[in-house]
Amino acid sequence: MKIDFVNLRVQYSQYKEEIDSAVLKVFSSCQFIQGDEVSKLEEELVGYVRAKHCISCSSGTDALLLALMSIDIQPGDEVITTPFTFIATAEVISLLKAKPVFVDIDESTYNIDPSRIEEKINSRTRAIMPVCLYGQPADMDDINEIAGRHNLIVIEDAAQSFGAEYKGRRSCNLSHIGCTSFFPSKPLGCYGDGGAIFTNDEKMADKIRSMMNHGQARRYEHQYIGINGRLDALQAAILRVKLGHLDDEVQRRVYLGKRYTELLNRKEVVTPTVKDDRTSVYAQYSIRVNDRERVIQRLNEAGIPTAIHYPIPVYRQEALGYLNINPDEYPVTEEVSRHIMSLPMSAFLTEEEQDYIVRYI
Ligand SMILES: *Cc1c(COP(=O)(O)O)cnc(C)c1O
Repeated sequence: MKIDFVNLRVQYSQYKEEIDSAVLKVFSSCQFIQGDEVSKLEEELVGYVRAKHCISCSSGTDALLLALMSIDIQPGDEVITTPFTFIATAEVISLLKAKPVFVDIDESTYNIDPSRIEEKINSRTRAIMPVCLYGQPADMDDINEIAGRHNLIVIEDAAQSFGAEYKGRRSCNLSHIGCTSFFPSKPLGCYGDGGAIFTNDEKMADKIRSMMNHGQARRYEHQYIGINGRLDALQAAILRVKLGHLDDEVQRRVYLGKRYTELLNRKEVVTPTVKDDRTSVYAQYSIRVNDRERVIQRLNEAGIPTAIHYPIPVYRQEALGYLNINPDEYPVTEEVSRHIMSLPMSAFLTEEEQDYIVRYI
């Protein structure tokens, strides 16, 4: 059997008519950047996430960058985040010459451990940037509460958790600013790069929208130093089609995630823990095993692709070597990054494929 890690081919074949016609409509409109499709998408995203404002943008990374720019992060400022994430989270902090300050993760959810945040807060701390890893929201209420006590902004990196719920609220709408990614393999993906920023604060929304488009207030009048962070109409049109199917896809992901966990129950693997008050959209279905290399080899030989999210903690990356961080400070991240591995997952994985994968584990 040959299995896709994320089955984008079957997804396209199922939505083909809708996607093709949406894309052709953009071609005939000749409105390629921003415009109607983009504003309609933003309205629909606001409806889905139930936040007041949505600013679409060119990627999840730019969403995080714009969020930090909008709160005027300065060189030397500190932003607290997790070391067990994709590089983008810490990268945007460093790009603005601020300092990423890492807090170790919770061993059951792999998200930032709120009980260890406060000891890292000092007079230079400006924001906390939790990541909702693998599609499960972090402990956002605890984090918001800590932030409130210290007057900090909370930016949710929801690049993997679009569609997830936390105490009845939607991911991206769990703190001051929520940022997501529409990279093709994310739970809601486009056919290129894309992202979005959500907030309930109108002033912040206006500033982010302006910074997203060269800091323009009106055309050729530039109030801020911004970026070209615009989403294009083709991606918006594709996202509108896919958003219409997202509830079904999320339901299927949750079903398949739980099914993996049941099937793997008796094996020597650590399956993901999802807390009772939230859902995971299983952007990744990741397990921990003792002999990871051997398991990966065995699965790959059987035509089952695997991935490791993430093999190297962010503080160990060469690009962040200047921070001189001692890995001993992060025992949980060290342990998890040595044993974690991801199995094929998407709304289009079949039960038959899943049974086959589990058999080889
Ligand atoms: C994918 C991802 C990003 C970056 O999103 P892009 O759209 O690829 O720029 C940021 N943070 C996390 C946790 C991600 O998984």
